[in-house]
Amino acid sequence: MDVKQLDGQYIAGTYARFPLQIVSGKGALLTDEQGKEYIDMASGIAVNTFGACDPVWVEAVTKQANTLQHISNLYYTNPCVELAQMLCEKTGMKKVFFGNSGAEANECAIKAARLYAANQKGKEYYTIITLQNSFHGRTITTLAATGQDGFHNDFTPLTEGFVYCPANDIEALTALVKQYKCAAIMMEPVQGEGGVLPLTQEFVTAARNLCDENDMVLIFDEVQTGNGRTGSLYAYMQFGITPDVVSTAKGLAGGLPLGATLLSEKMQNVFKPGSHGSTFGGNPVCCAGAISILSRLTDDLMEEVKAKSAYVFEELASADGVKSVSGMGLMIGIETRRDASQIVADCMANGVLVIKAKNKVRLLPPLNITNEQLQKAIAVLKAACKGA
Ligand SMILES: *Cc1c(COP(=O)(O)O)cnc(C)c1O
Repeated sequence: MDVKQLDGQYIAGTYARFPLQIVSGKGALLTDEQGKEYIDMASGIAVNTFGACDPVWVEAVTKQANTLQHISNLYYTNPCVELAQMLCEKTGMKKVFFGNSGAEANECAIKAARLYAANQKGKEYYTIITLQNSFHGRTITTLAATGQDGFHNDFTPLTEGFVYCPANDIEALTALVKQYKCAAIMMEPVQGEGGVLPLTQEFVTAARNLCDENDMVLIFDEVQTGNGRTGSLYAYMQFGITPDVVSTAKGLAGGLPLGATLLSEKMQNVFKPGSHGSTFGGNPVCCAGAISILSRLTDDLMEEVKAKSAYVFEELASADGVKSVSGMGLMIGIETRRDASQIVADCMANGVLVIKAKNKVRLLPPLNITNEQLQKAIAVLKAACKGA
């Protein structure tokens, strides 16, 4: 039996996979089981920050795997401490909790916000405002945080205490803050799964002000936007505000499972021994990978990300069959005249891997994709947008 049949027989049916098996890669080039190469414009959904098998990252990870792969959070270890220090020094945040995924990073953010609100204002201040069309994960609580009914229906009852505000609607946000006893506002600076839609500066500023005025916690879900993806280390840095909690995962460890919840000065002391935990959280190998990645997300690289982004926006904005282009940095959504699925299929046939977000084509290339690879991929994408 081939892999497709075996997958169908043995893997839980949660994924609608493309008819493609990837076996290896090098940077932004991926190879299928027949040896055909593809330019990777998705990075495993914004995970492989420096593409496949980046040699610097591989060395950091293998070195740690050869030293100690895991020990549990009952003991001190160096990689997680070094990474936490790095994250704090680069962001101004004060403390870090490590988990293993985006959903877990958000669970921690939600627990932190509810604890903070209970301590400051009382347990009845538990409501968390999230945005319509958001995506925060697949656990029951992060599903509740996700403002899309389609994700909810099969799994009710979900965790109580989430209300949803239309993105970029300051009046609605203000009304919700008045109406409910709120702990927090939680949002993605650029809605990723929802269609690569950036929030407006005005809305972000308003959310920050409302949180300040009402002693609420501003949570930025930077699971997808974080770690250099948008052209700054974290996307909030481009909005001129500082959240109270930042959750991140995807690209943090460059291809290994690691989530982090960053806590600001106001939040740094909410957790006490026993109030939260994770067996794998802060795993030494994953943290070694993340240290390697973070140390390379330099200002120069961020300028490169912005330049590549500008190139893609310019090429696509005027392209035949493209209705609109949105996003930030190398997180880009393209609204097309043709069905996005057709474009994804055409690109794949022509050696370029792109993905979708809602009804858009989504691009999340490795940050170190070469200009030549990027040009080739965009040429293929433009031809696909134009259609036969
Ligand atoms: C992917 C994603 C998540 C969920 O991350 P997992 O690692 O799949 O749990 C949460 N929030 C955002 C914004 C994401 O893009």
